[in-house]
Amino acid sequence: MNQDVPYKTYLTEAELPGAWYNLRADMKTKPAPLLNPGTGKPMTAEELNHVFCEELVKQELDNDTPFIPIPQEVRDFYKMFRPSPLVRAYFLEQALGTPAHIYYKFEGNNTSGSHKLNSAVAQAYYAKAQGLKGVTTETGAGQWGTALSMACAFFKLDCKVFMVKCSYEQKPFRREVMRTYGADVTPSPSMETQVGRKINAEHPGTTGSLGCAISEAVEAAVTREGYRYVLGSVLSQVLLHQSIIGLETHAALKKLGVKPDVIIGCAGGGSNLGGLIAPFMGEKLRGEADYRIVAVEPASCPSFTRGRYAYDFCDTGRVCPLAKMYTLGHDFIPSASHAGGLRYHGMSSVLSELYDEGFIEAKAVEQTSVFQAAEQFARTEGILPAPESSHAIRVAIDEALRCKAEGKAENIVFGLTGTGYFDLTAYQSFNDGKMSDYIPTDEELAANFAKMPTL
Ligand SMILES: *Cc1c(COP(=O)(O)O)cnc(C)c1O
Repeated sequence: MNQDVPYKTYLTEAELPGAWYNLRADMKTKPAPLLNPGTGKPMTAEELNHVFCEELVKQELDNDTPFIPIPQEVRDFYKMFRPSPLVRAYFLEQALGTPAHIYYKFEGNNTSGSHKLNSAVAQAYYAKAQGLKGVTTETGAGQWGTALSMACAFFKLDCKVFMVKCSYEQKPFRREVMRTYGADVTPSPSMETQVGRKINAEHPGTTGSLGCAISEAVEAAVTREGYRYVLGSVLSQVLLHQSIIGLETHAALKKLGVKPDVIIGCAGGGSNLGGLIAPFMGEKLRGEADYRIVAVEPASCPSFTRGRYAYDFCDTGRVCPLAKMYTLGHDFIPSASHAGGLRYHGMSSVLSELYDEGFIEAKAVEQTSVFQAAEQFARTEGILPAPESSHAIRVAIDEALRCKAEGKAENIVFGLTGTGYFDLTAYQSFNDGKMSDYIPTDEELAANFAKMPTL
């Protein structure tokens, strides 16, 4: 192997970022505020404090402070799994025969298996610092619930997870990881909440959805003394915590003297992409540098490429505030795609605004081609990637092949958000040749747009 930079680059403990970077501070047009669905007015801190931890509400509403110090306790926890490596994908480059240089930032090196732990530990810390007893949340495929239970175990907080019933039944291993870390895991819709009982009565035998589990988790938090609700993506505070990914990547590339041409990430609610691109987008917004930034989403849940930029509900039960975002409509239920983490109807309001202004490109990719990329990556670079992460791999490979056709040695950087050990039924369906590529029709999308609130 002819190496011009090391296969892996790590920052030293002393080089680790001491503050998160708040991309909103450099945006000329700020993301639209969350609205109270009752009054149509922006949510105040006081209203949000009933649902979320106070310090996290401050971060959610802060569009101006560029750097927010990472509390020492959080930095200490980060040391267990950070820095994450920036890897030069020499083996993949070789297999593709591309002159491009491919780098990936690997966030799967912790038990929860994804980047979600970066925000889970921050949120658990602030809940503990506020003197709370515990937090509630929902989890679909289970990555967020797993990350949050690890963080809550560390800070000695109760963790109540509403897990979408079909995942609860089909993914017993994730459920058991959460229970091992002490979380209380309830299949949703449950009979423990009013909204759960209502959904069960109206749809007997339903196996649940993310939107409905969110409604249950919010109700469980606001009706319980000493509890608040936490969320693993979409919110601006989560993008803030995830900026640790981008800050480390930026520092490592600087050490290597490498300037990226293209930065690629998968986009579900937008937290890993928002975190990875943060410092690069900051430079772009301040006119200091330019990069192509590409969001990759599943063709089965195409919020950016086929969604509307409008105010919409964040959950099916309509208990959450309204957010202005690229959305497929709060009633949109994506087909049973295997990338559970990318099946959300909306997108971060920060990324939505940047996309609307043309700072981000978006691509939608089909499931089978994503797993072809995953297979090639696993066989060359050794890591078994999560289906979500493999969306970014697909486009990184496509970009590398474009570079080959054009004879260009561009630097391609992508986020490898996690590992796929809990997604082996998805790999099984791919290996058996039984995977399908469902793409919603324009009529289906229009039916859901019609049900969106009019503001
Ligand atoms: C949750 C998840 C995602 C998608 O979430 P974002 O908020 O869009 O980053 C991507 N990859 C993995 C491994 C995940 O667990």
